[in-house]
Amino acid sequence: MSDQVNQVPVPFPCAGELVSHGECLEVRNPWDGSLAGTTWLADQRQLDRAIEVATREFQATREWPVHRRQSVLRGIAEQIDAQRERLAHLIRAESGKPIQYARAEVERGAATFRAAAEALATFGDQTVVLDAQPAGERRAGLLGRFPVGPVAAITPFNFPLNLVAHKLAPAIAVGAPVVHKPARQTPMTALALASIVRDAGWPGAAYSVLPMSADLGQHLAIDPRMPVLSFTGSPAVGWQLKQAAPRKKVCLELGGNAAVVVHQDADLREAARRCAAGGFAYAGQTCISVQRVLAQTSVYDTFRSLLIDAVSALTCGDPSDPATQVGPMITGAEAQRAEAWIQAALHRGAVAALQGSRHGTLLTPSILEKTTPEMDVECLEVFAPIVTLAPYTDFDAALQRVNGSRFGLQAAVFTQDIGRIMQAWRTLEVGAVIINDASTFRVEAMPYGGVKESGFGREGVRWAMEEMTEPRLLAMRAR
Ligand code: NAP
Repeated sequence: MSDQVNQVPVPFPCAGELVSHGECLEVRNPWDGSLAGTTWLADQRQLDRAIEVATREFQATREWPVHRRQSVLRGIAEQIDAQRERLAHLIRAESGKPIQYARAEVERGAATFRAAAEALATFGDQTVVLDAQPAGERRAGLLGRFPVGPVAAITPFNFPLNLVAHKLAPAIAVGAPVVHKPARQTPMTALALASIVRDAGWPGAAYSVLPMSADLGQHLAIDPRMPVLSFTGSPAVGWQLKQAAPRKKVCLELGGNAAVVVHQDADLREAARRCAAGGFAYAGQTCISVQRVLAQTSVYDTFRSLLIDAVSALTCGDPSDPATQVGPMITGAEAQRAEAWIQAALHRGAVAALQGSRHGTLLTPSILEKTTPEMDVECLEVFAPIVTLAPYTDFDAALQRVNGSRFGLQAAVFTQDIGRIMQAWRTLEVGAVIINDASTFRVEAMPYGGVKESGFGREGVRWAMEEMTEPRLLAMRAR
């Protein structure tokens, strides 16, 4: 599909109306700099209006019965499926994501809305025993979950559809309006999704998508009329917003420097293949990308050459080529930043088992050995096609090295040994331990989120629904 970009800016939905005036926002394709779309930037007045109307609309949406919310969620999923190619090319054009992964993201986006519809079938009321104490005799307890209020949603550039879905689907599921700030680099997919959401029957007043400056995003995040803040993005911004909004229910999905441990009893070829894809797909611009690989000494050399082979076989280049796995980084500045981190590590004694080169926004894969935990490529989030590789002799020490990080999103272990699997599960300070797959494993209905600097709270549809609701007990006395 060619990029026939409509030169007319796409209006944004604000408080039930489409806005097509103000400051124009041009969105550029990270691969070739071509125009990927244009829209408008919202201003303070429009943000205020969106929040005010969302607050009012909440009085209606909180009363929607489950079947009505399910019907909207299923309708959205059907339309995402129906518009699969259009959405995939929009994602590819504005984010530079290789088309095969953009298509996968669209499928996942539809699955997220379906998962929310399904979660509703069992989400909600439970009985509570009250008569375990004499004071509770002849009483019955019922615990329900009720939406807290409208949700302020802020999303990053790297999954312009599915990370929006992970905020919007649970919000619709619990009957909460959303005011959404997409990343300025990738607002076009969110705008396309918004029209699907409207057509599926969710009120326009209950979903505003406002491309806006980061400063205005700060206003959205801290506005007291929006009692829930769901933020996905960088740790620096996320933690600062949480501090600025201490009374809110806040869910933060932030960054990481995911580690993978490859033990001597692993299927080494499979581990190498999965680490290659997990570390370099979409140029490593995923929060759970494989960043630090530890392989046991006895299999290190074999694993090292399998990994180099697997990474060398990856296809780099034009994201519209169906074979491409490693496309551009989001901006030239980001590619230069990553290149500088490689140079700094080499300067301090690291050795490149595979050294990438940069051509504009495209940085080809690098594997670095002899790095230390103090180097940026290990201790910070690289968010780029760079993986470090180190040997270990002792499994305990490998787990401690994984834990020696300020982050804790997901970690992976390749082993056949149930004892080691249980040890890793007990020991690793992360939101999820993945066994015999890369740290990048995620399906929509699993609880997802991190500890330490990687986040606060959980997404994964049902868990996000919990974050957006509060329990309320009904204690009844029979007379
Ligand atoms: P980012 O710079 O933090 O931006 C994320 C969003 O926050 C964007 O919409 C951005 O708006 C907005 N923003 C920036 N400053 C703000 C402020 N002061 N107040 C309110 N909003 C503000 O992150 P990014 O570069 O787009 O995304 C990469 C990061 O996201 C990485 O750290 C990655 O690990 C993380 N991430 C985490 C997950 C997860 O589920 N844990 C998933 C994906 C990505 P502008 O675009 O207008 O600047």
